[in-house]
Amino acid sequence: MKDFIQQNLLGALLILAILGYIANYLYKRKCSECKKFGALKKTHRELMHEKHSKVKETIKTKDSKGNVVKSREVMVPATTKTYRVHYECRFCKNKESKIDSVTSKN
Ligand SMILES: [Zn+2]
Repeated sequence: MKDFIQQNLLGALLILAILGYIANYLYKRKCSECKKFGALKKTHRELMHEKHSKVKETIKTKDSKGNVVKSREVMVPATTKTYRVHYECRFCKNKESKIDSVTSKN
């Protein structure tokens, strides 16, 4: 019985992770009008503003055998883009928008 649990623990965790992901997805797309989960679909997004920022990057120095001999963190220039994402409900056609921001390396 103990072996059975150990063998299936990984699978159970994986299923939990997937369920959590789906629940989160459905929750984020809940319509505030008709209260249905997973009802909102993305229609378009518009860029509101951009600002300069920095992201942390790890630079690894390897020896001839490919072993990491040194690693250090540096700040590299990046851009944070803030979007207004528009959604429309599949059921009641209610329109909603949410703010989303993405930071990417230049
Ligand atoms: Zn709705």
